[in-house]
Amino acid sequence: MELAPCLSIKTGLPLATDCIDIMSENDRFMAQRQMYNGKIFANVAFAETPGCLITIRSGVFPKDKIGDRQAQKVHKDFPLADIKPGKAFVEFVETAAGDVDITQAELLVSVGRGIGEEENIALIKELAEALNGVVSCSRPIVDKNWLPKYLQVGTSGKSVSPKVYIAIGISGAFQHMAGTSAAGTIIAVNKDPKAPIFRTAHYGIVDDLFKIVPFLKDKILEAKKG
Ligand SMILES: Cc1cc2nc3c(=O)[nH]c(=O)nc-3n(C[C@H](O)[C@H](O)[C@H](O)COP(=O)(O)OP(=O)(O)OC[C@H]3O[C@@H](n4cnc5c(N)ncnc54)[C@H](O)[C@@H]3O)c2cc1C
Repeated sequence: MELAPCLSIKTGLPLATDCIDIMSENDRFMAQRQMYNGKIFANVAFAETPGCLITIRSGVFPKDKIGDRQAQKVHKDFPLADIKPGKAFVEFVETAAGDVDITQAELLVSVGRGIGEEENIALIKELAEALNGVVSCSRPIVDKNWLPKYLQVGTSGKSVSPKVYIAIGISGAFQHMAGTSAAGTIIAVNKDPKAPIFRTAHYGIVDDLFKIVPFLKDKILEAKKG
């Protein structure tokens, strides 16, 4: 992520980052990347230059997909020793462990930006409680300080492996979904039928969460009583 843009500037070669596929058409390279939180798959072509630079998202080219194809490796000296480091290690600060460990939870009720206001998070807590589950969240909820960082799922949060993951008002950006790859059944509630989360979810409810969450909670409490 740091090296490729620097190389692009130094060499003048075009760069496409975080690509998920590479194609060639009439001897020209094209790369596929996601835009708008994974809602759009864009095929990008490069300007006609002697080469191009592509960085690929980790895990998108498993060994079996590559098959017998071979690439030529070119080793070049890189005089790192001559470069002054732009960064220095300052200190290691351990994240607060918190009173719950979402990595151990069997059922997570995860809340995203669709919840709208901080006070609405109470709805999610009530549903989680009814289900004997634990609340987790997407990054915007932590960024707004509505829930603590140790409840965040995703690449800059935690990877979770519950049996059931209920995502409420979460669009399904890959940075979030990367943290759910070990989850069992994923259930999504989102009012946008085109939300990327529906590509991953096993079950989806396309509706307003403010209608669905209280309804689900009441049904679960009824079933518990009965
Ligand atoms: C380097 C980097 C690291 C990141 N790390 C993480 C990470 O670890 N975890 C993470 O989560 N994100 C992470 N992100 C952010 C990520 O890209 C997304 O921006 C984020 O996941 C979006 O969160 P969201 O789905 O809650 O919000 P949004 O994308 O805004 O989605 C809100 C969803 O709620 C739905 N909605 C709105 N109102 C309602 C309603 N009334 N009823 C039902 N649905 C409704 C909308 O249709 C929408 O799909 C990272 C980003 C970067 C650049």
